[in-house]
Amino acid sequence: MPGCADGGGVEKLESGARKLGLCLASRQLEQFQVYYQELIDWNRRLNLTAITDYEEVQVKHFLDSLTVVLALKQPPGKGLKLIDVGTGAGIPGIPLKIALPDIQVVLLDATRKKAVFLEHIVQKLNLEGVQVVVGRAEEIAHQPEYRQQFTLVLSRAVADLAALAELTLPFCAVGGRFIAQKKGDIAAEVQVAQRAIAILGGKLADVKNIELSEFTDKRCLVVIDKVGETPPQYPRRPGIPAKRPLK
Ligand code: SAH
Repeated sequence: MPGCADGGGVEKLESGARKLGLCLASRQLEQFQVYYQELIDWNRRLNLTAITDYEEVQVKHFLDSLTVVLALKQPPGKGLKLIDVGTGAGIPGIPLKIALPDIQVVLLDATRKKAVFLEHIVQKLNLEGVQVVVGRAEEIAHQPEYRQQFTLVLSRAVADLAALAELTLPFCAVGGRFIAQKKGDIAAEVQVAQRAIAILGGKLADVKNIELSEFTDKRCLVVIDKVGETPPQYPRRPGIPAKRPLK
């Protein structure tokens, strides 16, 4: 077992990851470096990220992605099959795959150009067991290959919780879990989404605050367990979940 790598300008990512129980070896830290460089390079042509400062990316994108491990239901091994809905430049799916190489990952985004970047980065980092899918969640979630097939569904910065539940819970296998990464005060948003979550077969399990000194703002994980099947009519047509959230 290779030990944790030391230093190299990624101290915050490394020390933060350690607090999450993740020991990043030098190969993994290198992968994060390559990911950062490619992200910045492609960002000149594609709108991938508003954050470009080195340290900010390490913390606000990479470490933030890894905080999801605080709310996992099962040990993150081979049996963990996750889908990142609205992954954009691969957040949180790619950092998690780097940190937990055994997991299987589907990266879903509606934007074809972003998918080109994602394919490039998957190849560049030699990531195995990662599939890039282009399409709207509202459509892909009706395909049998993806519907209720995932033990873990993740999403960051895509929609309000009520709409988001409709875009994500249909992917989640019964017995699996959906974790939404959220910022700021979330209580009202969770309250509004309660009924939508129930209709879609979910049950609110926890709202977990992230208590890491690396973050200066308030971040949390909204943890929703999939306790029943999602009725076949959901998600509704593209755009409808956001326009008319279930309530
Ligand atoms: N999760 C990333 C990107 C957030 S931006 C991050 O946290 O940095 C939101 C992304 O969600 C965009 O890339 C957009 O294309 C995608 N998206 C929004 N609605 C979607 C939908 N209905 N289906 C699939 N992707 C969607």
